[in-house]
Amino acid sequence: MACLSIVIPIFNEREALPHCLDRLSEVVAPLDLETELVFVDDGGTDDGGAYLIEAARTDTRIRLLRLSRNFGKEAALSAGLDYARGDAVIIMDADLQDPPEWIPVMLDYWRAGRDQVLMQRRTREGETWFKRVSARLFYWLIGRASDVPIPANVGDFRLMSRRAVNALLQLPERNRFMKGLLTWVGMPTEIISYDRPPRTAGETKWKPLSLLKLAWEGITSFSIAPLRLVTVIGICAAAIGLFFGFWIEIKALAIGGDPPGYPSLIAIITFLGGVQLISIGILGEYVGKTYIETKQRPLYLIRDIHGDARVDPAPRADDMREGRS
Ligand code: UDP
Ligand code: MG
Repeated sequence: MACLSIVIPIFNEREALPHCLDRLSEVVAPLDLETELVFVDDGGTDDGGAYLIEAARTDTRIRLLRLSRNFGKEAALSAGLDYARGDAVIIMDADLQDPPEWIPVMLDYWRAGRDQVLMQRRTREGETWFKRVSARLFYWLIGRASDVPIPANVGDFRLMSRRAVNALLQLPERNRFMKGLLTWVGMPTEIISYDRPPRTAGETKWKPLSLLKLAWEGITSFSIAPLRLVTVIGICAAAIGLFFGFWIEIKALAIGGDPPGYPSLIAIITFLGGVQLISIGILGEYVGKTYIETKQRPLYLIRDIHGDARVDPAPRADDMREGRS
């Protein structure tokens, strides 16, 4: 029988977990698939992990990876994908904002030969005005900056075939901008629209600043457009300066005398100083990224694994690349 893995990152989701398990069980039970639920506890500080360890005693479908600390959702997802064994892998949130009822629909597309089934948010209920606007801005920016077209409003809720997961696991970078990496992988893809409900329980884990950070990371790790933009600004500034110089010369020759202009000089100097500092900052961002990549640290560390201890974890991407398995 084919196997379906559902990967669920959790970070202090204790309140949402019982609902999540109930709804998932209802959806998964009638499926003609062997199912594993791979929970990744991203260093949560509540007793969500303990709850799942207890649940795994009676429910053999549950597996729990606990990371050594909070590594962030993207790293938690990488861990889940490394250990998922399914022929199809679905990623979803624990808070039921990604309704499990869509899973059978996603599976239909998978059976029809799609390697990725993406869920696109048509509406975002219960999200703040700030989050909606920043999401729009983010997708607009990344759409312009990235070479591969990243579909707007597609979150992490998606299905991937084994082929797509293996392709993703081959990408070596430390900086996991999932939306970008998955688009980069390509393969036959289907996009389904859905209405995103509000959280069932608990609070969103994103603070405005961390979203901003994610957006900046996403853009700079996936595109060198900011570097190009700086070059273009430099060329424009140089061209304007040149023409301005000519114009002053000609005016001085025609009218004579020293042209006044102390304030405009100061304005130009501060403006150019600012542009230069921003440019160095952006350049530094990329140098820093290169530095982090060269360290080759693991993306996450596992504290322990629970449930279904009979089977060894799936081979890590690194092992596969080196031919160990
Ligand atoms: N999450 C995680 N690590 C983090 C932050 C969040 O594993 O550092 C998980 C969280 O438990 C949830 C999912 O990522 O299952 C989405 O988080 P959240 O619902 O807070 O984000 P939103 O839906 O508001 O975008
Ligand atoms: Mg959520």
